[in-house]
Amino acid sequence: MKLSMRTYKRFPFWIIPLAIGLVVMALPFMGANRGTLRLVISIALLALLVVGLNIAFGYAGELALGQSAIYAAGAYFAGYFAIKGLDLPLTLVIAVIAAAAVGLLTGGPGLRLGSWSLGMVTFFLVLLLPDIVTLFGDYTGGTAGLSGIPLPSLFGQKLNNTTFYVFVIAITILFFALLRNYVVSRHGTALKVMRESPVLARSLGYSIPRLKLTAYVISALPAGAAGSLFAYQDGYVSDVSFGFSMAVAILAASIIGGSASIYGAAFGAAILVIGPLRASALQDWSLPFFGLLLIVGGLFFAGGVAGLLTRLIHSRFLKDDLMPDVLAALESPPPLPAIDGKTLKGVGIVKRFGGNVALAGVDLEARPGRVTALIGPNGSGKTTLLNVISGFLKPEEGTVMLGDRDITGLKAHQASRSGISRTFQTPQIPQGLTVAEVVESARFRTEPTSVISGMLTLPGTRRAMRRDREAAIQLLSVMGIVEYADRQADELPLGTRRVLEVARALASEPALLLLDEPASGLDEQEVEALAVVIRRLRDAGATIVIVEHNFELVMRISDRIDVLHLGGMIAGGTPAEVRNDPAVIESYLGKAARERAEAAEEKK
Ligand code: ADP
Ligand code: MG
Repeated sequence: MKLSMRTYKRFPFWIIPLAIGLVVMALPFMGANRGTLRLVISIALLALLVVGLNIAFGYAGELALGQSAIYAAGAYFAGYFAIKGLDLPLTLVIAVIAAAAVGLLTGGPGLRLGSWSLGMVTFFLVLLLPDIVTLFGDYTGGTAGLSGIPLPSLFGQKLNNTTFYVFVIAITILFFALLRNYVVSRHGTALKVMRESPVLARSLGYSIPRLKLTAYVISALPAGAAGSLFAYQDGYVSDVSFGFSMAVAILAASIIGGSASIYGAAFGAAILVIGPLRASALQDWSLPFFGLLLIVGGLFFAGGVAGLLTRLIHSRFLKDDLMPDVLAALESPPPLPAIDGKTLKGVGIVKRFGGNVALAGVDLEARPGRVTALIGPNGSGKTTLLNVISGFLKPEEGTVMLGDRDITGLKAHQASRSGISRTFQTPQIPQGLTVAEVVESARFRTEPTSVISGMLTLPGTRRAMRRDREAAIQLLSVMGIVEYADRQADELPLGTRRVLEVARALASEPALLLLDEPASGLDEQEVEALAVVIRRLRDAGATIVIVEHNFELVMRISDRIDVLHLGGMIAGGTPAEVRNDPAVIESYLGKAARERAEAAEEKK
């Protein structure tokens, strides 16, 4: 099926901020005075700090408080080398590299320790800055500060106020463009998924430490650049400029502008610089004032200025962005592409939680083109078995083979990359993604692209994103939900969200599909739709393991049923064999359930 991509292209909204940026850059030629230019430079520098924080905090979900210390690193490095006679572009590059180094040094340990540790590490970085500056007094000028920084020169030409201003705005626009590309690229989608659900992110094959460290190091780059520009702007660098109130001001601007946004950083910075930072009477009160702003901002407009604007734009212009010619092409749902399922073989799997033996030596085999159901009373170990297979738990004993590969003890994202897809008992549909994006997010592992390619929107990224979209549309049409492609995914009804999860699980072309109670909470019609989907997957060649409490459904769709009880397999066979197995009736089915199953058999 060939899809025209044009139908999906929206108005290129990035033109608007770019145009605004160019107008701001042209201010000196429109008669703006020196004071105004200084003010706009302050806004631009703060915006660079804030946009970095937004990547780490708003997108990657890590509260990084060290932007002001990284800003300082940029300023000291650029100042030092400017005094040594280096040109502005060189000192800028040095400052950005220094910032990346500080990011790596603090992010490595800070992110490894989990939850609040990055916040702590970066907090101490800001706290220790004066001591670090004193320690390296020979280079930093110690408490006296680093003075005598020459006027900036570009390729030997001294810059005047106007040309320096233009340079600062150009650098600001450049970083905003790079970071905007980063967040709309597949990496940005991955960050959103990770922020909303780390478990889902791992099941999609994302390495969380790597995603976070990358985002955090990227967040340091604009801060380093801002530092170098600051050094030239003031001609003097001292640690008092980078203290705790600076750190809080950056956080306040981020929250006011909207942390999970790029352009919001410019709004937040402008509001803060034009407001409290300029009123010198407020200097002494700046900390409590920012604190108050933080609380008010957090309470009353989650999403900040950017959030308000996006909601406005969405309600005005993006009402129903469906693509009629694609829909017409899909009147009869296309056949499922062949699925290359592999055989799953678990042997002697033992999993203990303390003294509690959840799995006591379980064997399980699931083959391509077959639905293998796993049933058993609550607490019998079904979810634990799925978690062992998909790498969320490490078994104490036993082996898990997928095809001829031993996947025992792989981590979740590695198991995912080896070809395992799963759905969750509670559907994991992240907020802020469209239905198509949810499916696309699973293709990251099958066709990776680099961060740099994403930032520069290189052809490789563009091609991959086009294929993502084509695959998503194809799968959504196979599942019969393509008309929702551009809707917000978390607004879908439960049944549709489950079908969407299956579509996402298929997007990575899985060798093994694990479904954890896909029918729970569905009404009769939705169960019917799900049964159709599962049968079609099986017929296309998928290897399917399904944990399910709906016994009628299990009887109808399964080729084989395995029964767990207290962590051990007590029975296994065809649906008819299992239903009549005395041990199963004794431990699980009971008379009533058996009658229901018979009724279902007759219906079939
Ligand atoms: P099922 O999915 O069949 O209802 P589970 O696999 O969730 O059962 O649980 C099997 C047993 O393992 C239960 O006794 C449960 O309490 C225990 N268990 C499951 N996960 C954990 C865990 N993370 N920590 C401790 N015990 C657990
Ligand atoms: Mg369970």
